[in-house]
Amino acid sequence: MAEQHSSVMHSAVMARCPRCGEGPLFRQVLVLRDQCSDCGLDYAFIDTGDGPAVFAIFILGFLVLGAALWFEFAFGPPLWVHMVLWGIVTPVFALGLLRFLKALLIALQYKHKAEEGRLAR
Ligand SMILES: [Zn+2]
Repeated sequence: MAEQHSSVMHSAVMARCPRCGEGPLFRQVLVLRDQCSDCGLDYAFIDTGDGPAVFAIFILGFLVLGAALWFEFAFGPPLWVHMVLWGIVTPVFALGLLRFLKALLIALQYKHKAEEGRLAR
């Protein structure tokens, strides 16, 4: 059986319900479900806004730039290789990262709310 409160990291990495850690948070890749299919937690409390996207852009920009520079100095590939490589890697990575960050913020928000009562709005 699932523990009472799933750990934040587990929920974030697996994109699972912050309460039971079992039910998936999203359908398709980034569309939030209405409620947990496992424990019935109503996801209506979730309001992450643009937070995850802002984080994702900062982290992604940093990582992709670093990786591109490393790749350039390590292999010195022609420009088209960079364009094809990062053109494919960046969006795939961005989606994965955004999914993780969104799940992370949701888990943190749930934990905060569960421990300290209502969030001020
Ligand atoms: Zn659940």
